[in-house]
Amino acid sequence: MAVVISNLRQDAVEGNFDLVADINFAGKKKTVVFSRFGNAPQLFSARPTFEPFAVMMLAPAMLAGERLVIEGEVDAHLLFQMNGIVQDILKAVIPKSSKVLVDAAPHQSLAISPGTNDDETAMDAGVGSADDLPAATGFSGGIDSSYVMSRGFFKRDVPKSMQIGLLMHHNVGAFSSTRHYQQSLTQIGHWADQRGLPLVGARCDMSPWYEGMTFLQTHTLRNVAAALSLGHLFSGYMYASGYGIESVIKGRLTNIDSLNTILLPLLQVRHNYFRLFGSEYTRTEKTIRVVSDDLINDSLNVCCRLRRDDCQFLNCGTCVKCSRVIMVAEVMGKTHRLEGNFDMKAFHDQRNRCMFNFIYSTFRPGGNRSNRVLVRYLLENGFKFPSAMRPLLKMAA
Ligand SMILES: [Zn+2]
Repeated sequence: MAVVISNLRQDAVEGNFDLVADINFAGKKKTVVFSRFGNAPQLFSARPTFEPFAVMMLAPAMLAGERLVIEGEVDAHLLFQMNGIVQDILKAVIPKSSKVLVDAAPHQSLAISPGTNDDETAMDAGVGSADDLPAATGFSGGIDSSYVMSRGFFKRDVPKSMQIGLLMHHNVGAFSSTRHYQQSLTQIGHWADQRGLPLVGARCDMSPWYEGMTFLQTHTLRNVAAALSLGHLFSGYMYASGYGIESVIKGRLTNIDSLNTILLPLLQVRHNYFRLFGSEYTRTEKTIRVVSDDLINDSLNVCCRLRRDDCQFLNCGTCVKCSRVIMVAEVMGKTHRLEGNFDMKAFHDQRNRCMFNFIYSTFRPGGNRSNRVLVRYLLENGFKFPSAMRPLLKMAA
């Protein structure tokens, strides 16, 4: 039984601009909403498109082994790639899936501008072209997205097409709770306001569609789908990713992120393209650069502790991710820059435990081996670990 996407429409609801379609999957029909919000002036000028739903439903259709039928138009480039190499890539990270037919009417020319289906008409009417639109990025406050903002927004030492003029913050089912999402959105909203950056986003809990797949197998598709629902607001999307070409060369295809170098350019539509930003550096190199940049490091939000009700800071100061940043800042003499958003007292009170957990993370099962590069950096730059940890450090570095 095919997976069918139909009845595309949009509707302004309580300050949001909802993009809506019906999806028939496994004999059940559901209405799916991308609830779009934000303060970009053109937010309500979108033309409804099927692309977000098509990208979102490709992996579920492949896992079910069912045809994906879109009862309407999909950008011709995207449709071609979704019927080809995109599925090969997804099969590499979701081995239980199988290749399926994606059936839609190919659309050769999607309009970027409001209220028209004709790109040339839009140009004639002087209502803008892709060149007028800014590059966008998602911003979480983590190291990868902070690195994008450090160079793409503050330093602007990258080509103009990579310079950021729009922030996005989506909820596609990644947050542990609504409260966690709201807290994160409020913080990023303040941050964007202070810097004069428009912030938009889309809410669509995609998790029910991805049963049988993990978040790490699917999150690029979720984020691209959400971004495409706001495709009339940006040209290129700078995707902050923790993986670069090395994962492809070495065949470490552990999750969808490890294939983003290839996958992202394939998901473009006529006026929106997706590119990795920052994959030229390792996580350690990016951490050093972000901590060095006084304009960005006071907005870091790296904490991986899920329950933080008892913590007044965004960053608990004691989890492995917080410890990693604090130790780099110590080596660089920059800890004072973290005092506003890291619980530095908690780190100092539990210093040895934090160091131990961090070192152990480099070799424990399921740990993060890339942290070894950071251990080596700390040792080479004079970070003082307790002498009792020397045997562990040998295993870690
Ligand atoms: Zn933390």
